[in-house]
Amino acid sequence: MTLAQNQTQITDLPEKETILELKQIRKHFPIKAGVFQKKVGAVKAVDGIDLKIYKGETLGIVGESGCGKSTLGRTMIRLYEPTDGQIFFKGQDITRVSESKLRQSTRKNIQMVFQDPFASLNPRKTLRSIIKEPYKTHHLYSLKERNEKVEQLLSKVGLHPSFANRYPHEFSGGQRQRIGIARALAMNPDMIIADEPVSALDVSIQAQVINLMEELQEEFDLTYLFISHDLSVVRHISDRVGVMYLGKMMELADKHSLYDEPLHPYTQALLSSVPVTRKKGQTKRERIMLQGDLPSPANPPKGCVFHTRCPHAKEICKEKVPAFQELKTNHFVACHLYNA
Ligand code: SF4
Repeated sequence: MTLAQNQTQITDLPEKETILELKQIRKHFPIKAGVFQKKVGAVKAVDGIDLKIYKGETLGIVGESGCGKSTLGRTMIRLYEPTDGQIFFKGQDITRVSESKLRQSTRKNIQMVFQDPFASLNPRKTLRSIIKEPYKTHHLYSLKERNEKVEQLLSKVGLHPSFANRYPHEFSGGQRQRIGIARALAMNPDMIIADEPVSALDVSIQAQVINLMEELQEEFDLTYLFISHDLSVVRHISDRVGVMYLGKMMELADKHSLYDEPLHPYTQALLSSVPVTRKKGQTKRERIMLQGDLPSPANPPKGCVFHTRCPHAKEICKEKVPAFQELKTNHFVACHLYNA
């Protein structure tokens, strides 16, 4: 398909409403050394990512541990201040707005669910005070209304309202994740960033929490950013999937294109290790073993960051960073193999 044909198809698509947009976002953590803590380098955890998240969708972000996916999630709501780039929430540039303004607007509308709910739930507080805390912070509702809301939220996530007076340690991992979700829902957010929300749970419990998240998405019209290293879970829950490697987005597409026809050599290698149910006539996917270790994000390779492990690397890959380009409708890839 020519670029012109491709462009025509993109223009013909109905406009989706963008809820959050990142333009060339970078998050570099300084490395300091010596008595004077002089900056001697930087860990490039997120290094120049452009991304749009559409209202009502679930965007999955996958990649090996250390690829920058969690940092990306935290940077997009400025839990980490970006080193460079811009963040737009519902069309408003929120990159430099003050912390208090951010708390009043974006932080209410985008909530996080973390991998380890126990670590993120104050063990000295009852579920009631944990869940109603944001109401206090934002001076919302009377005491009676707050208590009613807490009980409603507990029911929504499948917990009995009478649990409100209990403490987090009295619950199982799955129940604690439900509490984390209830807390995230308290402010009636537009979007939830879920960072490895089921990774610490048993497989059967994972399915229950995923089902709950899907039901809540439907009921509350939520947009999800779902961060995980688990390709099967991401495939199940996501509409689109982005693949990260060493702080960069390698490929981004709707889940069917990405899982059925991965274009980037890194995605191909990742997916080759996942057992898949093949359709009739489909050939078996060869297992692709990547050579070498994941390079350090403090010293990423020049050119394409994947070139030290890529089975298709060419000379140009060692020198030039590949553009993140749309090869098929809504299917973006950063790889020199596809340059004309
Ligand atoms: Fe491999 Fe080169 Fe493509 Fe990078 S740009 S993924 S090294 S072929």
